[in-house]
Amino acid sequence: MAEDKCGVAGCEQPAVRSYAREACESAGLKPADEKARRMHLCKEHNKEFKKATRTERKLEGLGR
Ligand SMILES: [Zn+2]
Repeated sequence: MAEDKCGVAGCEQPAVRSYAREACESAGLKPADEKARRMHLCKEHNKEFKKATRTERKLEGLGR
């Protein structure tokens, strides 16, 4: 059975979730495969992704 690995460049951790590549890029994560439609994220990068999207929302709420 193929094991999904994190799609962030240089990361080889097992993936826990997958998101649209564009969403990952806008969250500041660099994809190993720039043509992929979806990106798998490991636990750590999933955390980073969530933190990044949360920060974005916060900034929007402040009206910046
Ligand atoms: Zn990762």
